Amino acid sequence: MKNLNTSLDNLKKEYREIFTVAAREINEQVNKIKPAEIPNGNLFEQYEENSPGKNWQKEVLKLLNGEISREIFRKLNEILAYRTKFNCARCATCCKLACSEFSPEELKQKAQNGDNFAKQFTSIFVPYKSKEEAAKVYPEYIKLLEDNKEDKVYFYHCPKLTADNQCPDYENRPQICRDFPDNPLSILPLACGYNKWKEEIQPIALMLHAMIEIVEFYSDKLKKLI
Ligand code: SF4
Ligand code: SF4
Repeated sequence: MKNLNTSLDNLKKEYREIFTVAAREINEQVNKIKPAEIPNGNLFEQYEENSPGKNWQKEVLKLLNGEISREIFRKLNEILAYRTKFNCARCATCCKLACSEFSPEELKQKAQNGDNFAKQFTSIFVPYKSKEEAAKVYPEYIKLLEDNKEDKVYFYHCPKLTADNQCPDYENRPQICRDFPDNPLSILPLACGYNKWKEEIQPIALMLHAMIEIVEFYSDKLKKLI
C-alpha cells in the first residue's frame, strides 16, 4: 500500500512536469499563427470584430478543435490498440469490484437516455449494498480509489461471477468487460494483467491528458470572447 501511494505521488509530480511541457508546446503553436500586426497581443484579450486579434482567436479555436484534437485522438486510439498486445490475467477483480463516479440512479438515467456504456454497465453490474460490503472484497484497492478520485466513487459487482471467480461465459463476455481497462490512467488492481501496458504507455497517456485539459481550457475561454 505504501508503495502504491508513493507511485501515485510520483505520478502527480510527473503529471505537473508533463503538463508544463504540453502547455509550452500548445502555446508555441498558438503564437506561430499570431498576426504580425499584434506582436504583443494576448490571446485572451477582448478584440473588435474583424480585427487581426479576433481573427487570430478564431484561427486558434479552429486549430485546437481541428488539427490538435485529431492528433490527440489518433494517439489515444494507438494506445488502446496497443493494449491488445497484453492479456487479461483473469484475476476477476474488475468483476468483483467495478467502480464508477456515477450512482446507480445516475447510471439508470444515463442508460434510459441512450448512453451505450451505461446501458451495458447496468445490465451487468449491481451495486454493493454498502461501501463496507465492497471493502471486504479488496480493502486496499477501495482505499486507493477513494484517496485518488476527486469525485465520490460507487462500487458494483457482477452477480454472474462463479464462486471460484470464473466468468460463466468468458469467451462471449460483454464488450465493456473485454474493453477493461479502457482508460490508460485508471487505477488498476495490482493483479491486473494490463499493469504492464499501463506502465509502458503512461508518459504518453499523461501528455495526452494534459493536452486535453489545456485544449478544453483554451476553447472555453475563447468561445466566451468570440
Ligand atoms: S460478465 Fe463475466 S467478465 Fe463481465 S463482469 Fe461478469 S463475470 Fe466478469
Ligand atoms: S482486473 Fe485486469 S486481469 Fe483482472 S480480470 Fe479484470 S482485466 Fe483481467
